Amino acid sequence: MITKTEIKENPYLCYQCARCSAGCPVAEEMELLPHQLMHCLAIGLEDRVLKANTIWMCAGCFTCAVRCPNDIDITSVMDDLRKKAIQQGIPCPKPDVLTFHRAFINAFAGSGRVHELRMMSEFNLRAGKPFHNIKLAPKMLLKKRLHVLPPKSLKGFKSWMKRLWKM
Ligand code: SF4
Ligand code: SF4
Repeated sequence: MITKTEIKENPYLCYQCARCSAGCPVAEEMELLPHQLMHCLAIGLEDRVLKANTIWMCAGCFTCAVRCPNDIDITSVMDDLRKKAIQQGIPCPKPDVLTFHRAFINAFAGSGRVHELRMMSEFNLRAGKPFHNIKLAPKMLLKKRLHVLPPKSLKGFKSWMKRLWKM
């Protein structure tokens, strides 16, 4: 059972116009399209929703949220559902996606800015493919898309994180 505190948006506001799905850049890869996912939530098919690859394929681009005539923030629904799936121990159908999420958060959590080199290295190691995309690294370093040293921490980021953990 998914409660209102777990998903802050109200699925009953959705009237199935499918504007969200029409604009979604990764809709073709999804087992349930965003509007179908909202419908499943409204009729109580939470298990179906939590096991679908949709919540893991979502790129968090906010197109659906911007297009929704009812101001439903579907992107945050996807976030909440991923959290719920992890809490319930439902295996991610795309394990690399979860690995990427973890590597991204770890690379971001220290300074508030992503250290791409660390993120890519952690992803490759956790995914068990240490040389994945390694050929791209020299080109990216030359184009300054990868930096060897970590970026400077955002001002006040550490105290903000401490406050967040206390909440
Ligand atoms: S936020 Fe996710 S569901 Fe919404 S349009 Fe972007 S990729 Fe699709
Ligand atoms: S755009 Fe909004 S109202 Fe339309 S189907 Fe998607 S969530 Fe429902």
